[in-house]
Amino acid sequence: MDEPQFHTQALVIGAGISGLVAAAELQRAGLRVLVLDKGRGFGGRLASRRIGDAAFDHGAQFLTAEGPRFAALLEPLIRDGTLVSWKDSEAVPNQPLRWRGEPSMSAVAKRLALGLDVRLETSVSGLRRAGERWCVETATGGTFTADAVVLTPPLPQSLELLRSAGCDVPAGLRPQLEAVDYDRCIAVLAVLEGPSQLPSDVGAMTPTGGPIAWIADNRTKGISRTPAVTIHATAAFSLEHWDEDRTEVGRRLLAAAAPWLGVGIREFQVHGWRFGRPSRWHTEPCVRVGEAPQLILAGDGFAGPRAEDAASSGWAAAALLLKGGSGHSTASTSARPD
Ligand SMILES: Cc1cc2nc3c(=O)[nH]c(=O)nc-3n(C[C@H](O)[C@H](O)[C@H](O)COP(=O)(O)OP(=O)(O)OC[C@H]3O[C@@H](n4cnc5c(N)ncnc54)[C@H](O)[C@@H]3O)c2cc1C
Repeated sequence: MDEPQFHTQALVIGAGISGLVAAAELQRAGLRVLVLDKGRGFGGRLASRRIGDAAFDHGAQFLTAEGPRFAALLEPLIRDGTLVSWKDSEAVPNQPLRWRGEPSMSAVAKRLALGLDVRLETSVSGLRRAGERWCVETATGGTFTADAVVLTPPLPQSLELLRSAGCDVPAGLRPQLEAVDYDRCIAVLAVLEGPSQLPSDVGAMTPTGGPIAWIADNRTKGISRTPAVTIHATAAFSLEHWDEDRTEVGRRLLAAAAPWLGVGIREFQVHGWRFGRPSRWHTEPCVRVGEAPQLILAGDGFAGPRAEDAASSGWAAAALLLKGGSGHSTASTSARPD
């Protein structure tokens, strides 16, 4: 067997917002922390993409801070300009202010990762107990050992990882964890031949009754110099058309969006979020499924459908890990009230 490459006190799998806040909290408490993520960039679903000179946020569209802890997390990012207010929310009364990343959403994750040891393009493929430690294997043959592990991928992916590693979740907890569910979301990123017809003071809308849940003008939003829109299909449409040819599905969504676009499409890409936003989530903000050594499951599947919820789960995971001790949750799932 290969010698472990690296030992750390806490290993966090996932550099989305939940993993990053958990890692920062653990590091602040004095632990040596390592974060592994399979993606090429930071942020998971805080995702941005470019097509030529057009820029898109294609996962989370904006952040809102309803609780004081998340507001405090965002505060330095607002001060240094990583987050700026999206003027659409200033135009809509009685809504929490919406914050967008500058130059785009993935900058927020990059900023939260500052000072952390994050290894990107490192996909965790295996996990096993090695005495008092966890041994984490990567798809490229790397091996890491850790005194404790926090898993933050979408919950079905974390459970699959545990299953394939032969690490069992306590039987009483399994049905509750398996009840956590996510909506799929097909996203279309389209570069336009000219400015869209979306209202220029708002730049985004949530149409009703059709296949589109959300459409945002990335130029009005302030992240793209070139006219470009992000379109999110509804959960129902995404589920129904998930296995169909993505280019064709993209064309259908663009046809449905035509009244708000009013101009031709220069080019487009389609992205499918298999685990978009949780539609049912666990009522505890995280759960410990292994005690000695500790293994904690966290992420938005434990918290709710917003980045702020995912962050709360990350903080809860860090607190639970630091507290140590025994016991796992026996709570059940909640559903989104819509
Ligand atoms: C289309 C869409 C629109 C949204 N809009 C909003 C919005 O406007 N406002 C809002 O607040 N929220 C929004 N959300 C929700 C928000 O993006 C998520 O709740 C939040 O980003 C989840 O963070 P997370 O850290 O729990 O998970 P993720 O961001 O998914 O992070 C998990 C990470 O784990 C990594 N990973 C997975 N498996 C492995 C592995 N085997 N090895 C290594 N790494 C692995 C992934 O690469 C990923 O980076 C939206 C989500 C989607 C999909």
